[in-house]
Amino acid sequence: MMNSSVHRFRDIERTPEYLQPEKCVPPPSRASLGTMWFIRDGCGMVCAIMTWLLVVYADFVVLLVMLVPSRDYVYSVINGTLFNTLAFLALASHFRAMLTDPGAVPKGNATKEFIESLQLKPGQVVYKCPKCCSIKPDRAHHCSVCKRCIRKMDHHCPWVNNCVGENNQKYFVLFTMYIALISLHALIMVGFHFLYCFEEDWTKCSSFSPPTTVILLILLCFEALLFLIFTSVMFGTQVHSICTDETGIEQLKKEERRWAKKTKWMNMKAVFGHPFSIAWLSPFATPDQGKADPYQYVV
Ligand SMILES: [Zn+2]
Ligand SMILES: [Zn+2]
Repeated sequence: MMNSSVHRFRDIERTPEYLQPEKCVPPPSRASLGTMWFIRDGCGMVCAIMTWLLVVYADFVVLLVMLVPSRDYVYSVINGTLFNTLAFLALASHFRAMLTDPGAVPKGNATKEFIESLQLKPGQVVYKCPKCCSIKPDRAHHCSVCKRCIRKMDHHCPWVNNCVGENNQKYFVLFTMYIALISLHALIMVGFHFLYCFEEDWTKCSSFSPPTTVILLILLCFEALLFLIFTSVMFGTQVHSICTDETGIEQLKKEERRWAKKTKWMNMKAVFGHPFSIAWLSPFATPDQGKADPYQYVV
């Protein structure tokens, strides 16, 4: 060791000994515990359930207050089908975002064998996470809620009760997009409903009493407007960070760019899959990302 103080300061290592692999005991195999990814976080679970309930509420008002009592059959069927398809895709994206491993680094992999297996060249550096005892691939960050290091972590989102990282960003982006679309659709339908029903007799317009109808519609308007703003801003931010290939954390920390610059289109394909197809819009299609070796560092 030439200059251990510099090493400690930068939390960088070139030799396996410095990383104290003897302190890292690999956790028991997760195979016996089941392999589904799910974060047991109270706040996140409450937020996720609230998300489903808000979608169910919107669907209830759209169907039972606006579309079923309407006498325009074609209008009701078209809008009912469109709204329910988008709501279904939003919930499916939510489930995939929540239940997909966002790119967790194996816990406690900072063992002597693993570090030696990386066959580090002189001058090559690896980082070890002091909290979960793992060798951090480049661009990974530790999440205190997930208690794991997550590859290309963008942020931890309580609404999907999961981190947004390399493996589930597509589902998160689709979730924000479909929520924005159902919010916009609901607002347009409420607008039409008010226009139509002001000219008509209220009792023919809704199966609920006029005050109940108005309260249900105003609550829906409020919900839809709030989520339209929130999710469309989030959607724009996400697409921007995918195109520039810079995660939310990297933008916040103003991290120095160590990774190669690619075109916007290539960056989009890296998240949504290759090649471009209708599967980009499907939460059921797992993107083929063709990942590069995460342990390659550019010094
Ligand atoms: Zn960690
Ligand atoms: Zn997290």
